[in-house]
Amino acid sequence: MDISYIINELGEERENYFNAVAPPIIQSSNFVFDTVDDMRNAFADEYSTYIYSRGLNPTVDILRKKLAALDGAEDCLVFNSGAAAIFAAVLSNVKSGDHIVSVDNPYSWTHKMFNNILPRFGVTTTFIDGRNIENFERAILPNTAVIYLESPNSWDYALQDLEAVAELAQAENIITICDNSYCSALYQQPIKMGIDISLQTATKYIGGHSDTVAGVLTGTRAMIKKIFKSEYMTIGSGIQPFNAWLLIRGLRTLPLRLEKISRTTVEVIRFLKGHFKIEKVIFPFQTDFDQYQLAKKQMKDGFGLFSFIIRADDIGKIEIFCNSLLHIKMAVSWGGHESLIIPRCSSIKKEDYDAGNPGHRMIRLYCGLEEPDYIINDLEQALIKI
Ligand SMILES: *Cc1c(COP(=O)(O)O)cnc(C)c1O
Repeated sequence: MDISYIINELGEERENYFNAVAPPIIQSSNFVFDTVDDMRNAFADEYSTYIYSRGLNPTVDILRKKLAALDGAEDCLVFNSGAAAIFAAVLSNVKSGDHIVSVDNPYSWTHKMFNNILPRFGVTTTFIDGRNIENFERAILPNTAVIYLESPNSWDYALQDLEAVAELAQAENIITICDNSYCSALYQQPIKMGIDISLQTATKYIGGHSDTVAGVLTGTRAMIKKIFKSEYMTIGSGIQPFNAWLLIRGLRTLPLRLEKISRTTVEVIRFLKGHFKIEKVIFPFQTDFDQYQLAKKQMKDGFGLFSFIIRADDIGKIEIFCNSLLHIKMAVSWGGHESLIIPRCSSIKKEDYDAGNPGHRMIRLYCGLEEPDYIINDLEQALIKI
């Protein structure tokens, strides 16, 4: 399906709402029935009728159709956060006694789910280095129900060979779930590579304006219906109509924003690589990245988010650099209009700082929609201070 069609037309039945170009926000908790028979039919299949907005809602449905199509998937659910989408995807595919194989260092709250919540229900997780397919083969047990992937990781950009993992999992009857937040559906499509469930935070690129928290998961209609009828309806973590409307608006400019961010990222990386205070830049689309070939094979491009190692013999210099930035903001998240930075040392106690450990000197940078020179000049004036 044409991406312009998906973003501008798919799911939008304008004749039903006065031919308005922008869809209405159907801010209604419930929907009315004319007859008992109509109501009975609706109760028989909550997945195909509007009854109550914890389930289906017309504004959310427009978004669902677009997001499913962008992923090349049959169906989709949209949640009130990326974390809620992750929780529902995993929970709906495990039972007590099951085992999960996960890549090491997944997103922090994913990690906490595996370590703190699931063990309470008898579900255990083995974390592996997902860069090597043999590590998956070795970690799979007779009771492995799910393989959890995140490619690339959003700090060190470690990738997994999605086709190879999908093939292995299918042979063993294991469900594969991939966090595709780094790329978004425009730059990587896990479902098309055989992954069962693709998920992403919509807070980042899809929202794009740092004003909405949301999450998406896509898969076959059977899988999505299963999740809808259990975790989605029970936990009640579906997206609200107004937030869905903001995401539809975000989608209109998604290709344009990603293109701009890709071009800016190349320029900012070129600057940093040429600066003597920078030891290394870590980014999947650089020829010196150890999984560059795999990145080229399964991702359309790399962009926006990357890390660099700064030369600093004490933690104070990293702090001066970050505190001196005038325009690039220090905050979590990414994918919005504004460039952002997080130094790794912000989650390390000052007394534990080890200048010999490049991980402690790592800084993550997200390039937003500002002009490249605006970002580069800001980095340059802050680097001079150290
Ligand atoms: C932000 C993020 C999430 C969580 O999404 P929320 O919308 O914040 O709940 C999950 N995975 C990755 C890789 C993320 O960056």
